[in-house]
Amino acid sequence: MKLEPVRRLLDTHVEKLLAPLLQARSGAGGVKVLSWDVEQGISLFVELGGRVLLIELEPRNDEQPCYERTARFNVCARINFDRANDLTDRERRFVSAIVRMVRHREQLLPLVERPAVSRQMEVREILVDRILFQEGEGHYYLNPYVGCMIGCEFCYVAQRADLSWGMQGLAEMPWGRRLDVKVNAAEVLRRELRDHKPGIVRMSPILTDPYQPVERKYRVTRSCIESMLGTDFVPFVLTRAARALEDIDLLRRFAHAGVGYSIPTDDDRYRQMIEPGADPVDERIAALQAFAEAGIFTAVVIQPLLPMNPEAFADRLAPFVKVVRIDRLQFPERSRHLFRKHGIEHVLDEAWAADTQQRLVARFRQHGVAIDELDNLISFMKR
Ligand code: SF4
Repeated sequence: MKLEPVRRLLDTHVEKLLAPLLQARSGAGGVKVLSWDVEQGISLFVELGGRVLLIELEPRNDEQPCYERTARFNVCARINFDRANDLTDRERRFVSAIVRMVRHREQLLPLVERPAVSRQMEVREILVDRILFQEGEGHYYLNPYVGCMIGCEFCYVAQRADLSWGMQGLAEMPWGRRLDVKVNAAEVLRRELRDHKPGIVRMSPILTDPYQPVERKYRVTRSCIESMLGTDFVPFVLTRAARALEDIDLLRRFAHAGVGYSIPTDDDRYRQMIEPGADPVDERIAALQAFAEAGIFTAVVIQPLLPMNPEAFADRLAPFVKVVRIDRLQFPERSRHLFRKHGIEHVLDEAWAADTQQRLVARFRQHGVAIDELDNLISFMKR
């Protein structure tokens, strides 16, 4: 029996939590809320004094570092597109005010009872009211899916996504087994594109890989890209899946579309250990080459850093890539057990990571490949 798509009502609850902020006059006190979403915990993008603050609420966990805690949440805060920079005093005061607001109002969020943990695979078709989220000037992101069937064990977004599913009363599931398919994504996007200033639309992890195994069936990512044809919006997709190649002809119809590949090592043995659900390294590099040869802007993200030959890896990628981001694993303590189990815990050591990163950077620079130091790959794209 085919089930009807489910309309997700989560926005209404979170809107109540954030009401004082969302109802304040935009621009008052130099504060402008760019967007908020409820798919990876609760995320808020706020422009303040010319910089964009990203404030994220994830499930409370006293063992994990964060900016501050409330009864239900760990609150994390940083400058978007600029991991290197600390918050200013003014930004800290603002984040503290948000924390106070959440403490005061978090009882407005429902405490929904959840069914027992399920281990079955569940693909759910959902209807959404919003799809496009602004994360900076001329920068947007959208998630065609919620959840990721590639299911990397180190993926730190698992707990945040589960927070959102929990508020909907859905059973807890191992990461990789639950996927929401936004079946009306393209329709909503077409409407929203008319109301927003032109820009680059990022479709990328970490909440979902845009090329899920079910993309062949649903074509959500493809139909969102198609919606941008003939507009002043430009797609950028970042993926671990070679099947993105199925959209190469579509992407080359844009003057400046971009494609990025996440590739953490040149040695497929380590890929099999740490991201067994993702495509083999050779297939990803072959796909990257095909996109580069089609004249499409290409980028690579090397994260998490796995054992590799840095110079040989950079030599192999350099002919096909314009810019590279090299990044450590976010929240390494959460997945230390995984690296220990495979006997490669050393990749989490500061000294090993710094040395590997330096060797990669030096070699890519020799090849004239740009390095993204601010977690802002799309700033390298032409508009
Ligand atoms: S492919 Fe990306 S989004 Fe999917 S599980 Fe792995 S890290 Fe997370």
